[in-house]
Amino acid sequence: MADPALYLLAHGVQHLAGKPDRRPSLTRRALLRATGGLGLLGALTLPAAGLFSPAQAALPFSEVADGVYVRYGVHEEVTAANCGAIANIGFVVGEDSVAVIDTGTTHSQGMSLRAAVAAATDKPISHVINTHVHFDHCFGNAAFSALTVPIIGHKNLPRALADRGTFYAELLTDLCPDFAGTTVVAPTATVAETLDIDLGNRPLRLTAWPTAHTNTDLTVFDGRTGTLWTGDLVFAERLPTLDGSINGWLTVLDSLLPENVRQIVPGHGPVSDGRAALDAERAYLEALRDGVRQALADDLDIPDALARLDSDDWPGWPRDWQVVENVHGRNIVSAYTELEWE
Ligand SMILES: [Zn+2]
Repeated sequence: MADPALYLLAHGVQHLAGKPDRRPSLTRRALLRATGGLGLLGALTLPAAGLFSPAQAALPFSEVADGVYVRYGVHEEVTAANCGAIANIGFVVGEDSVAVIDTGTTHSQGMSLRAAVAAATDKPISHVINTHVHFDHCFGNAAFSALTVPIIGHKNLPRALADRGTFYAELLTDLCPDFAGTTVVAPTATVAETLDIDLGNRPLRLTAWPTAHTNTDLTVFDGRTGTLWTGDLVFAERLPTLDGSINGWLTVLDSLLPENVRQIVPGHGPVSDGRAALDAERAYLEALRDGVRQALADDLDIPDALARLDSDDWPGWPRDWQVVENVHGRNIVSAYTELEWE
């Protein structure tokens, strides 16, 4: 996609024409699409001045397994105050070196991550890994570009960042002061299928997945502790955002958690053994898929599908999830534009 707004136009907004009374504004939908449905638009109405506080300073890193450190993101829309510190980011420490897994939204969040690494160990950072294209996971790369270590992502990530990076950056520049000075830094190494790296008696396996949450999903498995960093292939508590393929995502979930995975670090939400989180996510995605398929079978256009499914009268309404507003409706549009071609 050369332009996120054009991409949006090509993926469903044209279906809204002719029903102006219920048509979500192009700007709103474009932003939801461009931000992966993270609800940025809602935050854009907030005043930026006076709200900023360094979110990363209030979000300490927790050691969730031996040598595995996580900073939990908050379950909020992106605001001037949190400046995108909404995703889980962290690092794994080996006997020789450290791998950083996701870098946050801003240069300063990335610098805080570097400070957390330095506080935990005297080992140097040897790898920076991005789980996917969304800014809350990889825009902190800017803080690591001077280290001359590989920044590793899915084989589709360089293209995806080239397509969207500027647009994301403009939105974030308008939204939060903490974004100032942040530049989009693309990966310097990519993974087509799997890649094994070793931090010193600490092998990590990176796996690139077919299109699911996005077309850039990469997981990291730490064999020593059985910890799988899922990126946004698993959302816990916070409603999943669909920016890839609903059918593809459900297929990936079938093989995401083999028995040797003892715990997961999801892209959002608490660390757990992953099974209940995955089941909850699957239940939401299946209900969404089935609801959209029924809407298509009933010949509903997108506004009518939204009226039916983006309502708490609908049995599949995601009432047990957080940060639902804007996201669920956007997921309906994404699923509709995929499933109408089945
Ligand atoms: Zn994401």
